[in-house]
Amino acid sequence: MDELRLLPSVHAVLQQNEWDRGEKGIPVSVIKKWVQEEIDALRLSLINDSYKKERGRDQFLEAVSTSVRKKLEINGAYALSKVVNATGVVLHTNLGRARLSAKATAHVLEAASSYTNLEYSLEQGTRGSRHDIIEKQICDITGCEAAMVVNNNAAAVYMVLSALAKQKEVIVSRGELVEIGGSFRISSIMEESGAYLKEVGTTNRTHLHDYTATINEGTAMLMKVHTSNFKITGFTKAVSSQELLTLKEQNPELIVYEDLGSGSLFPFTRYGIGDEPEIQRSVAAGLDLVSFSGDKLIGGPQAGIIAGKSKWINQLKKHQLARVLRVDKLTLAALEATLLSYHQEDAAREIPVIRDIVRRKEEIRDQAERIKEKLSPMYECHITEGHSMVGGGTMPEVSLPTYIIEATHPDFGAAELSRKLREQPVPVIVTVKHDRCHIDPRTVDEADEAALLSAFLSL
Ligand SMILES: *Cc1c(COP(=O)(O)O)cnc(C)c1O
Repeated sequence: MDELRLLPSVHAVLQQNEWDRGEKGIPVSVIKKWVQEEIDALRLSLINDSYKKERGRDQFLEAVSTSVRKKLEINGAYALSKVVNATGVVLHTNLGRARLSAKATAHVLEAASSYTNLEYSLEQGTRGSRHDIIEKQICDITGCEAAMVVNNNAAAVYMVLSALAKQKEVIVSRGELVEIGGSFRISSIMEESGAYLKEVGTTNRTHLHDYTATINEGTAMLMKVHTSNFKITGFTKAVSSQELLTLKEQNPELIVYEDLGSGSLFPFTRYGIGDEPEIQRSVAAGLDLVSFSGDKLIGGPQAGIIAGKSKWINQLKKHQLARVLRVDKLTLAALEATLLSYHQEDAAREIPVIRDIVRRKEEIRDQAERIKEKLSPMYECHITEGHSMVGGGTMPEVSLPTYIIEATHPDFGAAELSRKLREQPVPVIVTVKHDRCHIDPRTVDEADEAALLSAFLSL
């Protein structure tokens, strides 16, 4: 076929588009590969006669260029892409849970691009410990004696069990043998850790005497697990951690540990939102150890924070797993800056997760009106009252009152519109319901709003 001779060379495509020096931070080698792929695809469609557009040397050159240009736009520079979360789900697990505060972001940036005193004592001029970077701050905020940070809360649970209860019994209520999204099961992690799970009680009711009857000389720990992502209601009974602590009177060596899951340092209940346990209270109750996530309701980086009595934390710090599960300086920087907002009582203003959860309904309505105005008349828009979820497997029964913009495009159905929105340079993630695209402005901040509008209006 003569037409095949009209196909452009990689060189010609690169030159025509001035891509020979890379684009949007994408190395020229990657762009070259894409150009080659597009030329190959075009050749194939000519050979099997599925090419339906205009033919010719210039046309082929333009077709390849257009495809690569589109790819550049969609891919940006990286596989990990910023997106606009217009779902209103604050801790969206698929969208990376918490986003960091401006303070945390700035601190991460500085730590990333500099040498730091990560393991260096500036006072002594000798080797220091990375645990010291954050421990005092966690203790000040939660009231605990000692603390350490590992990779995530799943790692924290694993470490506590493995380091302190290997080949010993850990008693857990049947009502608390939870599975968290992403295949994290208490029973499986327990097995993996080498601790022996002793289940007590029933799914809906567990009594203190169930624990008492099960404790023996092989028991190392009583573990409570916060049932983050579900609620058992009706005829129920659970034993509080305070009650579990009374069992230490007869068995002083028992460790009482609570996996708080998300945990919260912010008094959401005072805003009438949920009944998430406040970490400070669990610590004050005298629990030996608690652990919680850094990137759920705390609103910081992915991390697992373990807080409690020095006796146990010191053992954990010395354990081999502490090295395996340790966090890097970026996590420590992000966590330190996030926690600083709690010290200064700026949490509701500075930490995006908290700000989004406690946002006032009226403010969201004003934002919805503003977005609607910009999208009309290109889109047909209605504003309705709705509910946002906290997400991340936390506060499952809480629904936060919000306003939703329901948008319809004159030419595309909702599924196609939502796909096109995902293909934008800054992808916008919306919810599709009843053939309409729903925008919940709760999780859309000012910068996001501009990206959202530009995505919608470019279609
Ligand atoms: C979320 C959660 C975990 C896991 O925490 P990650 O930080 O996601 O590893 C463990 N236990 C409970 C109860 C949780 O809610």
